[in-house]
Amino acid sequence: MNRADPQKPSTWRPYKSGLCEGCWAGCCTLPLETSAYDLIRLGVITEDEAASSLRKVAKKLSKEGIIQSYHANNGLFIIEQRVNGDCIFLDEKTRLCTVYEKRPEVCRTFPKIGPRPGHCPAGKAQTRKGST
Ligand code: SF4
Ligand code: SF4
Repeated sequence: MNRADPQKPSTWRPYKSGLCEGCWAGCCTLPLETSAYDLIRLGVITEDEAASSLRKVAKKLSKEGIIQSYHANNGLFIIEQRVNGDCIFLDEKTRLCTVYEKRPEVCRTFPKIGPRPGHCPAGKAQTRKGST
């Protein structure tokens, strides 16, 4: 199976059970939107920090290289990506999520909810993936 282009949902394939097995984790190269709750669950901020000031949270996480931006209008934080587009929580060799139990809500609902619901940039990897 060839890789679809994660940046072009029109090239994505219909998702079906078992497709994640052996996939290169194309969905983990899409911009990852997280809420303050997601960040608390990930363990990168505390509840007190979130209640105090989300702008301060954004400043701290940006400095630590965890987020690339914060959108005050909707309270969402965009998780930092590597140069190749990978989420920083994706293991580069195994293509597995390193924070699977604590992963953000959008990772739990994709591809049911996403740029093209019910479709994803599935494709074979050299290594195994099974994170969504
Ligand atoms: S949901 Fe993600 S890991 Fe699963 S097949 Fe689609 S792109 Fe691959
Ligand atoms: S948190 Fe895990 S499942 Fe979510 S995009 Fe990053 S590597 Fe993928």
